[in-house]
Amino acid sequence: MRTLVLNAGFEPLAVVTFRRALALVLNGKATIVEIVEDDPVWGIGVRFDRPSVIVLTRYVKIPYGRLVPVTRRGVLRRDAHRCGYCGQAASTIDHVVPRSRGGEDSWENLVACCLRCNSVKGNRTPAEMGWRLGVTPRMPFGPSWAVRGLERTVPAWEQYLAPAVAA
Ligand SMILES: [Zn+2]
Repeated sequence: MRTLVLNAGFEPLAVVTFRRALALVLNGKATIVEIVEDDPVWGIGVRFDRPSVIVLTRYVKIPYGRLVPVTRRGVLRRDAHRCGYCGQAASTIDHVVPRSRGGEDSWENLVACCLRCNSVKGNRTPAEMGWRLGVTPRMPFGPSWAVRGLERTVPAWEQYLAPAVAA
């Protein structure tokens, strides 16, 4: 069980174990924003709500401009699970310039893709197919991308995470 930690300005900051989160709350460093319903934590004779989201009481400065590691899930999230070529629901990712032709595993060279476009395109470039990309792939930015552990989220966190920014 993990807890989302928000900075004092409610930006996502980190993902920690619920024990660590509870320690922050008990030490007065954070307050609970969302709890996991019907799943309390028991201390010695004490019952605590299990924190799902907490917010720090004091603002923590975080370095920006950190590189976001490229992942398959990350590419799908950035592109909102829409195929970069046809706009349909995407379940895979595609190398714009195929790997076999020197294309890299980078934010700039990967787009979300539907299975159909992926198999039709094969080892060709969009230009060779006469296709145009609906998006310009680039590294996503913003606090919700700089936080480790957000590859897997729970529904209670969603409202605190910025939507995928592709513009
Ligand atoms: Zn497609």
